[in-house]
Amino acid sequence: MTLTVIALGANIDDPVAQLKEAFQRLRELPGLTELRASPIYQSPPMGPKDQPPYFNAVVAGAFQGKPLELLMALQDIEKSMGRVKKRHWGERCIDLDIIQLGENKTVSPNLTIPHPGIENRLFVVQPMIDILGVDHKVPGLPELGTLREALSNEAVIVCENDVLG
Ligand code: ATP
Ligand code: CA
Ligand code: CA
Repeated sequence: MTLTVIALGANIDDPVAQLKEAFQRLRELPGLTELRASPIYQSPPMGPKDQPPYFNAVVAGAFQGKPLELLMALQDIEKSMGRVKKRHWGERCIDLDIIQLGENKTVSPNLTIPHPGIENRLFVVQPMIDILGVDHKVPGLPELGTLREALSNEAVIVCENDVLG
């Protein structure tokens, strides 16, 4: 069993409902157990600015299987929920990224673990801190608390009335 962290994001078609639906589907994956969810956060779009704000959360759990199997399972969920790629970092009804798989480091054309965007994204670092703590470490990076300090110019708003489930 390996600690896995998955980031969820959405910004169209009732994003909070999409995050909740994706979380339910993640709970149904046989290789993924002991899932716990962060609060949901809202933040401005990272890519093109002419799109709605993003809603993000992370889940952590135990994964048994190969990294590529997890990627395929996440892509199946995205596809079955109607994800359509329009433009780079553009609007999407659901995005599921593998953030961390224990101490695993994967660099291949279709999969990079840990996810290369972590240290630039408070909307990933903050919800990870919520469930894993400031001292948690992702391989190759400083502790989450240190990453958050470096992102103090970024803004994320917690959605107090919404939880993943
Ligand atoms: P970003 O990866 O910067 O957050 P994005 O999520 O918008 O951008 P996508 O269009 O969803 O990017 O995915 C592009 C490709 O990224 C996927 O087809 C997948 O093969 C690849 N990929 C590489 N590493 C990962 C990872 N750790 N988790 C999910 N997808 C990954
Ligand atoms: Ca992403
Ligand atoms: Ca993605």
